[in-house]
This record gives sequence, structure tokens and C-alpha cells, in this order.
Amino acid sequence: MTTIFDKIVNREIPADIIFEDDDIIAFNDINPQAPVHILIVPKKRIKTLNDISIEDEQLIGRMFIVAKFLANKTNISESGYRTIFNCNDDGGQTVNHIHLHLLGGRPLNWPPG
Ligand code: AMP
Repeated sequence: MTTIFDKIVNREIPADIIFEDDDIIAFNDINPQAPVHILIVPKKRIKTLNDISIEDEQLIGRMFIVAKFLANKTNISESGYRTIFNCNDDGGQTVNHIHLHLLGGRPLNWPPG
């Protein structure tokens, strides 16, 4: 099933895109939870983290390389940041297309609520 993130990849709905290559797109979260809140999304639709397979190993690794790059670009590398994959209901996943949250620019509480 098509997700809202497919529509962003296909330019069917607008987003504040800050990074894109052949495999990954990253854009600002529409409902930011911190001064920096970026979503790093593979163009390949994978429903949840439960659905990744060994063939996705490079893609998942590359999502973290992009997170590091964007943390540097948004000047939160040194102050610190958090990367999160939510999975299913208890994890708080609302969009069924895996995405890595990059959050920073303020102190983040631990443990999360
Ligand atoms: P999750 O709850 O982990 O599935 O995260 C989904 C995220 O997508 C939430 O933080 C939403 O605010 C964000 N989101 C939903 N729709 C859009 C959109 N059109 N553009 C940007 N971010 C969105």
C-alpha cells in the first residue's frame, strides 16, 4: 500500500526535502519534536523494522551515514542528537514505511515516555 512517504518521494505532496540520492530521501518532520527533527527515509518501501532482510543491510547502514551527515549539516553533532526507528504500535510507529528520526537541538529526556 502506498504511504505518505511514497507520495513525498514521487513529489505528489510537498515536503521540506534536505537530502536525496538514488536510495534515500530526507525531509523535515511536519510536526517537529525538537529544533532539529529530520526523517531519513529509504525510497524502497519497507513496512516496519520487522520486515528488513539481509539484502537491506547496506541501505540501513547508509541511513545512519546520512543521519551523521545531516547532524553535521544542522550543527548538532557536538551538542548531541538521537536517532530512532519506531516499530509498530507500542513503538509509536504511525507511518508504515520505515524511517529514521534524527532529533536534536535541545536536551532529550531519557527514558522516552
Ligand atoms: P512515526 O510515528 O515514527 O511513524 O513517525 C512518523 C512521522 O512522520 C511523525 O513524526 C510525523 O510528524 C511525520 N509526518 C507525517 N506526515 C508527514 C509529512 N507529510 N511530512 C513530513 N513529516 C510527516
